[in-house]
Amino acid sequence: MNLSQDHLSVRTTCAYCGVGCGVSATPKGDGTVTIAGDKLHPANKGRLCVKGSALGETVGLDGRLLYPQVRGEDGLRRVSWDEALDKVAGTWRAIIDEHGPDAVALYVSGQLLTEDYYVANKLMKGYIGSANIDTNSRLCMSSAVAGYKRAFGEDLVPLCYDDLELADMVVLVGSNTAWCHPILFQRILKAKESRPEMKIVVIDPRRTATCELADLHLPVKAGTDVWLFNGLLSYLNRIGAVDPAFVAEHTSGFDAALATAEVDCADPAAVARICRIGLPALMEFYELFAATHKTITAYSMGVNQSSAGTDKVNSIINCHLIGGRIGQPGMGPFSITGQPNAMGGREVGGLANMLAAHMDLERADHRDVVRTFWESPAMADKPGLKAVDLFKAIEDGKVKAVWVISTNPVVSMPDADQVRRALEKCELVVATDIMQNTDTNAYADVLLPALGWGEKDGTVTNSERRVSRQRPFLPAPGEAMADWKILALFAQRMGFSGFDFAGAHSVFDEHARLSGFRNSAADVPRAFDMSGLGHLTQRGYDDLEPVQWPVRRSAAGAIEVEERLFADKRFAHADGKARFVATAPRAPVNAISEDFPLALNTGRVRDQWHTMTRTGKSFTLADHISESFVDIHPQDALLHGVREGELARVSSEWGAMVARVQHGGGIPRGSVFIPIHWSGQTSSDARVGALVNPAVDPVSGEPEFKHTPVRIEQFRVNWHSFILSRTEVDLDSVAHWTRIQGREFARYELAGRNTISDFGQWARGVLGVQDLDADWLEYEDRTAGVYRAVHVVNDRIEQCIFLSPRQDMPSRAWLASLFVKEQLSEIDRVGLLVGMPVEKGADTGPTVCSCFGVGRNTICNAIVEKDLQTVAQVTSCLKAGGNCGSCVPEIKKILVQTRVEAAEARL
Ligand code: SF4
Repeated sequence: MNLSQDHLSVRTTCAYCGVGCGVSATPKGDGTVTIAGDKLHPANKGRLCVKGSALGETVGLDGRLLYPQVRGEDGLRRVSWDEALDKVAGTWRAIIDEHGPDAVALYVSGQLLTEDYYVANKLMKGYIGSANIDTNSRLCMSSAVAGYKRAFGEDLVPLCYDDLELADMVVLVGSNTAWCHPILFQRILKAKESRPEMKIVVIDPRRTATCELADLHLPVKAGTDVWLFNGLLSYLNRIGAVDPAFVAEHTSGFDAALATAEVDCADPAAVARICRIGLPALMEFYELFAATHKTITAYSMGVNQSSAGTDKVNSIINCHLIGGRIGQPGMGPFSITGQPNAMGGREVGGLANMLAAHMDLERADHRDVVRTFWESPAMADKPGLKAVDLFKAIEDGKVKAVWVISTNPVVSMPDADQVRRALEKCELVVATDIMQNTDTNAYADVLLPALGWGEKDGTVTNSERRVSRQRPFLPAPGEAMADWKILALFAQRMGFSGFDFAGAHSVFDEHARLSGFRNSAADVPRAFDMSGLGHLTQRGYDDLEPVQWPVRRSAAGAIEVEERLFADKRFAHADGKARFVATAPRAPVNAISEDFPLALNTGRVRDQWHTMTRTGKSFTLADHISESFVDIHPQDALLHGVREGELARVSSEWGAMVARVQHGGGIPRGSVFIPIHWSGQTSSDARVGALVNPAVDPVSGEPEFKHTPVRIEQFRVNWHSFILSRTEVDLDSVAHWTRIQGREFARYELAGRNTISDFGQWARGVLGVQDLDADWLEYEDRTAGVYRAVHVVNDRIEQCIFLSPRQDMPSRAWLASLFVKEQLSEIDRVGLLVGMPVEKGADTGPTVCSCFGVGRNTICNAIVEKDLQTVAQVTSCLKAGGNCGSCVPEIKKILVQTRVEAAEARL
């Protein structure tokens, strides 16, 4: 059923991470949408993290791409769908006729619904006749796919989320679960609360928020995971923590894998040295793993995004196979996906080296199944170009037309400046998107408007193989269309039959039926099977409840699902056995050097998503971390001449960017961490993708986002400034800027290298206030180089600007609070003139709990004044941490720091 009991709310699925939480969305008459967790969804049982909770702030039409546009000499002009699609089809047809089908390509996204993905894949692989369709999921989980395929014979996630609560130990490898998969992390923590003996181990070079609540953290050197797990395999074998019957009867390759592991990793002391951790900590982990049969090893980008990503995955799986720790409740190797529908993309074969429905391009029998089912006129028979190679081929002129769908490669790809060059050179760049202005759309010859979250109709699959409905609750804006529909109309223009789908339901039906087509032991068996959902009526599709695959129908017509796989110890290789894979450890492709002495690691922050095209619209999400930063160890900062709070230029062999220096306290010597989210739309020069090396894993093609050699140096500026403004400002003369969405205003953090001779004139120019009679409060200390001005309209603050040669400027939280006031009080005006709040408690400090908008200063004050001793007491006093719980690790840290500082102050 798609309506909840009050018949106003629509049950749908969150647009962000691979946890795949159920959402209840209630559109209001005033255009706003109320968001709540869906209590009936098995993934989240009513809870949402702050990103999910703030979805309602992202559905407005500001900035949306609403009409097809074609670029001419005078820039983009609005055209009809017919004209836009005719142009694309005509150009593609001409290119294919002259250069063959491999001269065109699709680059798609884990943000697509399965139905969109299915049609895109069918079009390219079954009708264009090329496998040149790749996806941004290549950047996050293709190593996990390759690892599962090597071990199990098919891309099969063995576990379900309930297993995380049943496990006696959860090992989180390369996964800041607390920030990146918050609801899963909360489920693990709740399980630990009820069973304190349950262990949580975190393996991560950084001390992340996830570590705050772990029993053991192993801060291994980046890239040394294979040594660690090979060492574990060797140790388990040595002490006899082996299930010999399982290994003998249900696996193969054990001897070779063990022999390889023992070459470098038989001695724990050597492994500890290579991993740069203490031997006691390493042995504690090994002993815990050996002693805890019900262990889950969950991994994410820290494992996948590596030139040895697939081997890392298999080295983990090897350690589960040796003890037969798979296929039973509470155990197994668990890849947690990043994107909302990375798994759906895997089902339909959205990667360039896969065929639909978990079949292989290289296998003639698999191609025959798909060709027959699709009635394909031109079937691809070899893998297409993976993401990094695809953009190289575009720059080389081998691929002459690319259609980018729902992704932003100019920001998100490694060597992102190369992507820019490629798109500049490309004969025809088509971009389908929901936003008008993105870094990638700037290079589009044709822009096509897609439906966004809240408007789309289809399905997504989460990390535990659970298929959930995304249901529309908002009308299609402008002329935007569903991605599958755009592709189907294009296919028809190309002269292809087989794309006359009546709706998302009929696409899903075809996808589900293909998974069951000739899928039997006697024909071409596959574990991926959704045939139980084939032939659903429209009503059945609309009312579809979240369901895990495989999902089949019994002879009596009842739905049968498997929540966890391999209970029968049979795997998908032809002999039914799992494979140990020999994983010889190797270092990252590009080593640090004298010129580039630090290793760059990239990743997500708690409250943002990908390139911020959606989360960047939310003021709730903007406050936690509002600028890009480079996290560096204080001693490295000293060594390289950069200071906390100041700007630094970080560069690699491939590109450069500017970010603010921070000592987060969790970064080891020799490395830096920079988040992935900032683009040319939100900052002048903070695209970290430009720095990232394009080295890839030889098996999966996944780029090495976690290790790029870089150097860091001071980014010298003459002045610092920030603006809060209800209207656009002119940033042309500014050397570095970041734009941050506020409630009823935008905030800009600025820095300049020029010398400003007349502060007032400069400020009025930037803010666009030329009226000398405007209500304009200003303060200037020429000698100190300090200036501030406030523009007031009808007693409301309209804009304010602060400038100083130093960083220590007034609290943004306090100023932001003035923007929601209908009228400034006298005390507010005094505060604005003196540059600080006059009222006690007015400065709440940077946001810690985004759900309830609780700032750091508020938390610190309450801890001291009310003698709060536990996170639970902070929550009960201020609500902070009481919703999604993502900020609980930070509150815990603040609690410890504040109490120590208060104790010291009393001495
Ligand atoms: S954990 Fe958060 S971002 Fe991920 S699906 Fe759930 S609500 Fe969405």
